[in-house]
This record gives sequence, C-alpha cells and structure tokens, in this order.
Amino acid sequence: MENKTLSDIKINLVEHSKINDIDFENLSFGNVFTDHMLVCDYTNGEWNTPEIKAYAPFTIEPSARVFHYGQAIFEGMKAYKDEQDDVWLFRPDQNYERFNKSAVRLAMPEVPQDVFIDGLKKLLQIEKDWVKRGNGKSLYIRPFMIATSSGVIASPSLNYRFCIILSPAKSYYSGEVKVVIADHYSRAANGGIGAAKAAGNYSAQFYPTKLANEKGFQQIIWTDDATHTKLEEAGTMNVFFRINDTLYTAPTSERILDGVTRKSLIELAKRENINVEVKSVLVEELIAAAKDGSLKEIFGAGTAAVVNPIAGFGYKDEYFELPKLEKSFALHLKEKLTNIQTKVEPDTFGWTV
Ligand code: PMP
Repeated sequence: MENKTLSDIKINLVEHSKINDIDFENLSFGNVFTDHMLVCDYTNGEWNTPEIKAYAPFTIEPSARVFHYGQAIFEGMKAYKDEQDDVWLFRPDQNYERFNKSAVRLAMPEVPQDVFIDGLKKLLQIEKDWVKRGNGKSLYIRPFMIATSSGVIASPSLNYRFCIILSPAKSYYSGEVKVVIADHYSRAANGGIGAAKAAGNYSAQFYPTKLANEKGFQQIIWTDDATHTKLEEAGTMNVFFRINDTLYTAPTSERILDGVTRKSLIELAKRENINVEVKSVLVEELIAAAKDGSLKEIFGAGTAAVVNPIAGFGYKDEYFELPKLEKSFALHLKEKLTNIQTKVEPDTFGWTV
C-alpha cells in the first residue's frame, strides 16, 4: 500500500477549546464532538498526508458517489482513562482489520496502519482531556471513509476521504430493552454486505426498526434471510442466549458482523468457567426454552453498551418475559470486561493498548 508516512502529519490546533462548555455528566450518546478530527484523503491512487485539524463541516460535491451509491464504511471503538490518567484503547487492531475488510467489500482502498492506528493515537494524545475517568465514562471513536469523486455514475469512486471523529460518552443505560424476532424483513443475506460495517446496513434497518418501535419493541433480533429460523444478531449488537447454564451465540458468517465485544466475551466467559457454545439457536428452540423455563437470559454485546440485558422478546403475536435473575451472566461479564477496559483489573489477555 502506497502512502506518505505519518511523520509528515500536519497538525493545526484550534485556538480555543470548547471543552469547558461541555457538561460531561449530561451527554446524550454521539452528539458532542471534540475540538479536532483526523482527515486523510486518497487521490491519484495514493493516500495523502493525514491532517489533524478543527472538527468542522467539509465541502463535498453534490454528485459525490457517497450520496448516491452509499459507498461508505465506518468503525466504532472506545478509549478509556485509568486512575493514573493514562488513556487506553481496547483491541484497536481488531477494528483496524475489520475496517479494511469492509473497505475491500465496498471496493474502497485499504487504509494504512500508520494513518488509522498511529493517527488515532496522535489524535487521542491531543484530545486526552476529553477522555474522562470513572463510572463508565469513555471517548467514543468513529473512524469512517466516504467516496468523494463527483459524477452520478454507478461505479466505484476514484477518490476517498478517511476521517476520525471523537465523541465523549458517559455510561450507557438503555433502560428496559424488549426485542422482536424478525419474521419478514432481513438485515443481510448470503453474498451480501452484512459482515461489513457498511453505512447501508444501518439505513436498511431503520424502517423495520421503526415498525418494531411502534409495537413497543426497541430492537429487532434478525434471523437468517432464507428461512427466518436461525437467530443471528441485533441492530448494532451481537446476541447471546443463556439456556440453563450454557451461553449460545451464533457463529459469524457473511450475514453477521464479527463483533469485538462478542469475541472478547466468548474468551472471558471461558475464563470465568461459564460454558459457552458458538452455535445458532433456532427460533423454535428459543420459544420452547422460554416455555419450559430453561431460557434464563438474552443479552446484546457491542462497543456502545458493552452488554445490554434484554427484558423479553416478541415473536409473531406472542410475548415472552425473561426471568429477573440475581446472578446474571450478563452483568457479571459486563463488570469483568469493563474492569479490563478501564484497567481496574489486570488485563491478562493483552487486549488493552
Ligand atoms: N453487530 C452489528 C451489526 C454492529 O453494528 C455492531 C457494532 N459495531 C456489533 C454487532 C458489535 O460489534 P462490536 O462489539 O465490535 O462493537
């Protein structure tokens, strides 16, 4: 991959930080951004010198491919601060690899490691005061890439913009989450782009999710598109099912995003002597387990909430409430993983950077 080296990175710092205007105790997720962003353009077949500059709007032609054909990908990760005020990333190599897999699938150029990883570290050094300590606080990191060439021609762009923006986040309580199991719409299909973090995967979910919201469900659990019989993942989370004392999560496939939280929880559960099986659960198995009482928990796993317990699920015209547990696997694993991410517990896995 040809690129200019990061030692040439251009840095233009803002004169006045807006940090003192921010109420860090009352942040709604993803609405406030730090003073700076990283921008790197791809033109004439190569990556230009990355630049760190003020977070601000940019100008793009109305005919840019991203607006018409949705050639756009992104990532989601977090930085945490420990008691010594050091800033930590959680498995950034995994997000970097996944980003470039998404790039390949969307016919976009791969981003060099020194732009993505070293550029991110540089940006975080500049914005370290925006990473707050304690109580589930973090700095949400959103790397993304868009197709910028002009022309309403349905073919891959020649030019691209890679960008990283940062948004302070407090601990994430989604309230009680009820999910509905998809029996008509699909999120992804074999041979499609479900395993990529492509923008279009999310917009395609908005309409079915709106219909689910109108029926009192916050999220959809997607099923396989061909038969709607296998449980796969939720909107922005992978899903775990606890039947008796075994945790099940679907294997990754062309239809499922390979979540960093999911793969970390699988390893962590094993360390905690929790039996975990990577195996698809069928809708009929879930309903049978709900009816005979062996279904104990369902939870989502993803960067935003880490672990999100689910209160109950709907399927066609039936609703199944999950039991309220004193010793839930969800909360135990959430505490353990959060402790590793924030360096409260030693990271024996070597996940923190
Ligand atoms: N599935 C989908 C569709 C997602 O968007 C996300 C969020 N990135 C996840 C699962 C969870 O992935 P991760 O644990 O890497 O955040």
